[in-house]
Amino acid sequence: MEAFAGQEHVMDTQCPFCSVQCKMQVVEHLGKERNTYTVLPKPNAASEGRLCIKGMNAYQHALSSDRLTYPMAKVDGAFVRVSWEEAYRIIQSNFTQIGQQFGNDAIGVYGGGSLTNESAYLLGKFARVALRTKYIDYNGRFCMSAAASAGNKAFGIDRGLTNQLSEIPMAKCIILAGTNIAECQPTLMPYFTRAKENGTFIIAIDPRNTGTTEMADLHLKVKPGMDAALVNGMLKVLVDEAYVDESFARERTNGFQELREHLANIDLNDIAEITGVPLVQIRQAAEAFGKAATGMVFTARGVEQQTDGYMAVRNFLNMVLITGKIGKEGCGYGAITGQGNGQGGREHGQKADQLPGYRSIENPIDRAYIAEVWGVKPDELPGKGVSAYEMMEKVHEEEIRALFVMGSNPLVSNPNANFVEEGLSKLKFLVVADMFLSETARMADLILPTSSYLENEGTLTNMEGRVLLREASRAVMGEVKHDWEILCGIAQSLGRESYFSYTNVEQIFEELRIASRGGLADYYGITYDRLRRDEGVYWPCPSLDHPGEKRLFEKEFAHPGGKAELIAVDNHFPDEQVSGEFPLYLTTGRVLSHYLTGVQTRRSHTLAARSFESFMEIHPKTAQKYQIEDDSLIRLESKRGSIVVRSKLTREIREDTVFVPMHWGGIQNVNKVTNQALDPTCKMPGFKVCAVNARPLVES
Ligand code: SF4
Repeated sequence: MEAFAGQEHVMDTQCPFCSVQCKMQVVEHLGKERNTYTVLPKPNAASEGRLCIKGMNAYQHALSSDRLTYPMAKVDGAFVRVSWEEAYRIIQSNFTQIGQQFGNDAIGVYGGGSLTNESAYLLGKFARVALRTKYIDYNGRFCMSAAASAGNKAFGIDRGLTNQLSEIPMAKCIILAGTNIAECQPTLMPYFTRAKENGTFIIAIDPRNTGTTEMADLHLKVKPGMDAALVNGMLKVLVDEAYVDESFARERTNGFQELREHLANIDLNDIAEITGVPLVQIRQAAEAFGKAATGMVFTARGVEQQTDGYMAVRNFLNMVLITGKIGKEGCGYGAITGQGNGQGGREHGQKADQLPGYRSIENPIDRAYIAEVWGVKPDELPGKGVSAYEMMEKVHEEEIRALFVMGSNPLVSNPNANFVEEGLSKLKFLVVADMFLSETARMADLILPTSSYLENEGTLTNMEGRVLLREASRAVMGEVKHDWEILCGIAQSLGRESYFSYTNVEQIFEELRIASRGGLADYYGITYDRLRRDEGVYWPCPSLDHPGEKRLFEKEFAHPGGKAELIAVDNHFPDEQVSGEFPLYLTTGRVLSHYLTGVQTRRSHTLAARSFESFMEIHPKTAQKYQIEDDSLIRLESKRGSIVVRSKLTREIREDTVFVPMHWGGIQNVNKVTNQALDPTCKMPGFKVCAVNARPLVES
């Protein structure tokens, strides 16, 4: 339809940037010279009609002139425009040749937690059925893997929140551990301020003062990486002072006796010493949580992105379980997901060890079920691959020779980025499907342009496990294709079109429903029609007449036998300790106006203007010791590499710690410095602590 100046085009959509998935309307006012835009929050149950600055300005990157609008191949070091037919031919030729020469596992697939459920599902199927490689993983490994593994082992199922966001104000005590919702998920803040108005006692655990800790009644300013030990202290107080819900622990959990015996050996003075949190505060926190009739615990990357992230989260789950604060109104646990589809993105087969519906790739029954849905033989499905960073190691070792990246920027998001860059430069063939020329895309041999949140239809699952449909509200730019069209196009070029014969995205969701049926993340009862009618549907939802589970574990946990598992957790110390050469701890995180590696938000002029460069927070006393002045350029160095950032002197951080955000590439990429050591269970890298030195940049 022809559009005229003065007309308006209303786009009903939802924000692509975090796991709240706020609904909104972007109104495009058509003008003679240029169009203007108004963004309005849209009433919805998750964000209650709120939007933050990221959502308000998300249209800017989607409409940016920086968008990639046609495929490009690298010829003699420069990108040249190619047709889609030529792009598919290049992929077919390279993948076939590399597969024949080195085997199917020489091709890796690397996905992202911002992809829709349909894209995530199809990418998993694409790796296993079109490429027949075992190597697939995704950037969600860096986001949710510790909490996901802990939830699975403790409860038998991993859903971000065990209950609804709307129950937050009903909790009488709330623990916010390693989460800065004020900057990362701002539209959640009113849930907590409402709780405070109801008299809720809020405890924040964070090495820094943030907008979130400001709201707290008690701030435990823990040493980076010492969360598990801190919780051991609180658990000991809960047990010693009889705040345990004995009947819940006895009837609904396993392992309480072993945990009690373990805690008997914990020395509270030691805990105060090693965590840097005064004993009086540890007691106060435990007593507040123990006395409260209802309570919720939230964790996020501050706790999870550690080499003991899995165990640290398990210890928080121990707290929830021994006090019986789960499965009831105003009680529960929540992992505050960072990525837009951090929840759904981890349910449908992008992970090395998973098939759709949280099925296990190692379980013969699960393999047989999915093989039947996909129309292949079970033994044709590859086995378990490796985690995201381990894939980068395989690239470095040249076991993986070709890599297909969709919706991710691994060069900036992986730890030890210099090593990753070295590895990527060894690849025989790198394909990147993205909206922009990201740092990783610049290294590619072939770039495929993908659609934005305004153009791409699909479902996303927010942190509550609420599945939401985001309809397309705008035609694609230029020759851009949707993720699913690209995957089908490549599969066709490889002669696997019979497995990828979709003509619209809803058909993929219909297959996902079947694939997830009977799995832990069961979407069978959810349809596009239902999602259009309702304000999202919670999983598990096993039948069309099932309302969806808003609150989990009211009667039983998901383990066979119905009981939750407690575990004794040792006091763990960070993999890397400070030394004479590297005397400071570095911790990383986010700022209000940016998302992930900043590929999208750095292209929004409003967001970029708010935070246009990276920085390093340092305490004034520490700065004085190292002759660092405010607002000056600093070289920050670890044994893996160095970056240059601007100093920001602040009393809001511990004297032994500096903080740098994670949204920039190149010389400001903090992951050139971070530690690649992995949690042994979930393979989460220890992003949140490493040892560094900082010194003024010497001008030459
Ligand atoms: Fe909502 Fe998160 Fe988007 Fe902000 S970034 S508008 S909180 S979905």
